[in-house]
Amino acid sequence: QFDEMVYMDKLTTTGQMAASIAHEIRNPITTVRGFIQLIQQDTVDQKLKKFAPLILEELDRTNNIITNYLKLAKPESFELTKVELNTILSDSIELLRPLGTFSNVSIEFTPFKESCFVKGDIQHIKQSLLNIIKNAIESIEECGVIDIRTDIDRNEGRAIISIEDNGKGMTKEELKHIGLPFYTTKTKGTGLGSMITNRLIRQIGGTIEYSSELGKGTAVTVTFQLV
Ligand code: ADP
Ligand code: MG
Repeated sequence: QFDEMVYMDKLTTTGQMAASIAHEIRNPITTVRGFIQLIQQDTVDQKLKKFAPLILEELDRTNNIITNYLKLAKPESFELTKVELNTILSDSIELLRPLGTFSNVSIEFTPFKESCFVKGDIQHIKQSLLNIIKNAIESIEECGVIDIRTDIDRNEGRAIISIEDNGKGMTKEELKHIGLPFYTTKTKGTGLGSMITNRLIRQIGGTIEYSSELGKGTAVTVTFQLV
């Protein structure tokens, strides 16, 4: 029922990246400059203290963009070994459960019936799952459910993880933009999460597919090679 789109690497040139990063970083810096100018004035009083959290937030956002950008520019090394998916999945889910609870989102998880060994790198898989689940949580406005299911395709020799949310979903057009550098619809987003996720998964021989329907939700399907 979902509208499907297979992931493609959308990063074409580093020049494009450099141009957009300059643009993206200028926004939070401009905000911070504005507040600092205010603080310089004679009328400075205790009331200005209320801007401190905003200033810090904008600085953190800038820092975040740079950290993520560096991750792209200089991908961390990884090791292809035999890793167990149930453990990585439950570790990742438990890390995000508090954020889920805070956002009125419950996370349901059906693990692989038995231990599931795949070819991969623990950090790569964990980082990818965290990014995907975090997006799912953020797509839910009031309250909702994330359903994480697992399956094995013996014929293809693949372990399948599907992460489905009943959040706001995406239009066909929006779906096309996922994974483009700095594509975000969030006021505090970086628009780098999906791009990094796609790259990490591909690097270890996995696949990722997004399908979504506006107002209904999104399903992300990730597969890894069984060993
Ligand atoms: P960010 O989360 O910082 O916005 P991402 O690259 O992780 O950047 O995601 C890019 C955009 O893709 C999001 O801003 C959102 O519009 C869309 N998106 C990603 N995952 C989902 C989802 N599960 N449901 C709805 N929209 C999503
Ligand atoms: Mg994200």
